[in-house]
Amino acid sequence: MKRLEDKILKDGKIGEGNVLKVDSFVNHQIDVNFMCEVGREFYRLFQNEKIDKILTIEASGIGIACLTAQYFHVPVLFAKKTQTCNIFGDVYRSKVESFTHQKTYDIIVSKSFLHPGDRVLIIDDFLAKGNALLGLLDLIHAAGARAVGAGIVIEKAFQDGGKRVRDTGLRVESLARIKSMSVENGITFM
Ligand code: 5GP
Repeated sequence: MKRLEDKILKDGKIGEGNVLKVDSFVNHQIDVNFMCEVGREFYRLFQNEKIDKILTIEASGIGIACLTAQYFHVPVLFAKKTQTCNIFGDVYRSKVESFTHQKTYDIIVSKSFLHPGDRVLIIDDFLAKGNALLGLLDLIHAAGARAVGAGIVIEKAFQDGGKRVRDTGLRVESLARIKSMSVENGITFM
């Protein structure tokens, strides 16, 4: 998505440890009009699929998932991150190693909202090492639901997450795929 690439080049900031900051329109302040365009693009890509539900992970995925869901007219379910055990009753649970925070946390969704046979589209902001997506896939499989695909705003294609997730057979559509990124040489796209 050319407009997204242009926006990343204009507003993105490269931080420590291969982290791209897009806080001015995705991860802190949200440019709603622009993210609606992102949602519309996900709709264009997945409109021929039957989708019952969009699944994302808190916190940054929620806004993007909601702005996407308005075109599919389906609910958004977000996996909650939690470090506490045992206090939730009927949940599906998986473990995710965080790329940005360098710790492992549990993600959970209530069994009330993910059902056998549900056709689920995953939406998230970034794909780096793939741990978040693989954790969400775990939850979907635990429920006996089916992942139809994943829509990612920014894939850091120089990391191995894209391969790990596509190797499971999942269709992954990333709207911007970063080939290389460094403070010295800036950002290039695939
Ligand atoms: P993964 O699990 O694929 O390694 O990382 C995906 C998650 O880590 C995303 O949900 C996102 O929140 C966060 N993340 C990974 N890389 C970046 C990055 O470069 N910038 C930002 N802002 N978040 C990232």
